[in-house]
Amino acid sequence: MLMSPEITPGGYTPPERRLLGPGPSDISTRVLQALAKPTIGYLDPSFVGMMEELKALLRYSFQTRNALTFPVSGPGSAGMEMCFVNLVNPGDKVIVCRNGVFGGRMVENVERCGGIPVIVDDVWGTPVDPQKVADAFRQHPDACVLAFVHAETSTGALSDADTLCRIAREHDALTIVDTVTSLGGVPVLVDQWRADAVYSGSQKCLSCTPGLSPITFSERAVDTVKGRNRKSQSWFLDLNLLLGYWGETTRTYHHTAPTNSLYALHEALRVLQQEGLENAWARHRSNHLALKAGLAELGIEFVVAEDARLPQVNSIHIPGGLDDKQVRGALLQQHGIEIGAGLGALAGKIWRIGLMGYSSRVENVIACLNAMESVLMAQGVKAEPGSAVAAAYRAYAAQATAR
Ligand SMILES: *Cc1c(COP(=O)(O)O)cnc(C)c1O
Repeated sequence: MLMSPEITPGGYTPPERRLLGPGPSDISTRVLQALAKPTIGYLDPSFVGMMEELKALLRYSFQTRNALTFPVSGPGSAGMEMCFVNLVNPGDKVIVCRNGVFGGRMVENVERCGGIPVIVDDVWGTPVDPQKVADAFRQHPDACVLAFVHAETSTGALSDADTLCRIAREHDALTIVDTVTSLGGVPVLVDQWRADAVYSGSQKCLSCTPGLSPITFSERAVDTVKGRNRKSQSWFLDLNLLLGYWGETTRTYHHTAPTNSLYALHEALRVLQQEGLENAWARHRSNHLALKAGLAELGIEFVVAEDARLPQVNSIHIPGGLDDKQVRGALLQQHGIEIGAGLGALAGKIWRIGLMGYSSRVENVIACLNAMESVLMAQGVKAEPGSAVAAAYRAYAAQATAR
């Protein structure tokens, strides 16, 4: 007898959910259908044509002319690692800003590359302090890279990428910038910032399936990678090898590209281009403002100060006395809504309501406020029934008048 497991008859069908956490976000039918198109060879001339469009669409999303712009086969963490393993050599000093979980992962990456991290800490929930970064460069003039997270998904704080990149340039250092959560939700202006190595993720504000990480490297960063005199510690993520597949001239086998996922990303980026970046940013802001108005009726307060708040990651304090898991469980079981828990030091203290990409829609804001109100009131929170949704509608109306 051969071993054979018992599996649910009829196969697996995921339940219907509204994905209002810190990613993945809801995916439109249009993008899901792109996934189901026939798989073809990753060196097929037709596929290669699609790859060129994909690179052009990514350049649009990042607002860059960088030739080296493509999706890494792997989640955002792979994009992060690609930047570090290609740009950090053993003994290199790297200034790393840490104001949340993902900055902490950058520190890990530097250490694993044999680099020496110089950590600039900021309180979780606040943006990176440019003054501290300037001071770190003054104390460590030999630092050759500055790494920071533009949109800290763990806290909901947005940092000033333009200023941070300028400080790095003044000290002749390259920049590694995490835009996993920012791309498509708030302005990411790679050429204007003159950022050097920038990575993102497919499943946040781009609303594509998880597992791809768009990256873009400036000419300066590419020259640094090409000039390395020792091989990168990673074979899979070595840009010098990958250029053979994604580069300008050659198309040779490196690894089997995830063809169908790339169709989906191509479609997700077409959706973004058709809407227009500025309209997408405005939509994220509009839905954030309506959600904020509704949450205020429930006595809920934001973690991040208004001027650094991410519209796509609404970090809020859990009202006193409420049970984190119970509330999130009720939202999921009774309303089909997923919101995010706090990470690390903020676990059990905050929730993160994501309104990312295709999840950033009026109907999701209304459904979320409705559900939050009903679940919180059942837990003893005092509120006027229907007041949260009414406040959101008033906020939308006020925006319409302002236009
Ligand atoms: C989600 C996220 C990542 C990691 O992306 P994965 O696709 O989960 O590997 C990295 N940085 C930030 C800021 C993120 O939000």
